[in-house]
Amino acid sequence: MKCDICSSEGIHIRRVTRTYGQGEDLLVIENIPIISCPHCGESYLTASTLHEIERIKRNRKSLAIARFVEVANFG
Ligand SMILES: [Zn+2]
Repeated sequence: MKCDICSSEGIHIRRVTRTYGQGEDLLVIENIPIISCPHCGESYLTASTLHEIERIKRNRKSLAIARFVEVANFG
């Protein structure tokens, strides 16, 4: 794969977790691939990744798994 920005070979793909929205609209998407180029130093998402994120956001009710956080009451 080549870098979209400087066309150099040897890009790296990192997987990151990103959070969208807040409060009850909070959506966490894990394993989003981010292209990282050691030549020009850019990090970016591909168009298809952005498209997929939009799709996940639109279909969050069916695609997202609700995870609950344990809350302890001290005292
Ligand atoms: Zn580059």
